[in-house]
Amino acid sequence: MAFCIKCGTQLVDGANFCAKCGTPSSEVLGYTDTPSKGKLKFKDGSYYEGEYINYKPNGIGKKTFANGDVQEGRFENGEFVG
Ligand SMILES: [Zn+2]
Repeated sequence: MAFCIKCGTQLVDGANFCAKCGTPSSEVLGYTDTPSKGKLKFKDGSYYEGEYINYKPNGIGKKTFANGDVQEGRFENGEFVG
């Protein structure tokens, strides 16, 4: 199941755009409810690549901020723990 990254509306399976706000579902690649690996893109312009659960970095990954800062290591519930 996928949810819109902007407004949180549940996306219809296979939908290319959020029915509510029109955000392309392709902004989130490989999203699943179960632990997975892939890329997440955040509203603040940062993005994350690695292990995640339910839109939040969970596990080993790398987050790159819009200003170029990088956090690389372990994340729990979206927070960098090192
Ligand atoms: Zn939306």
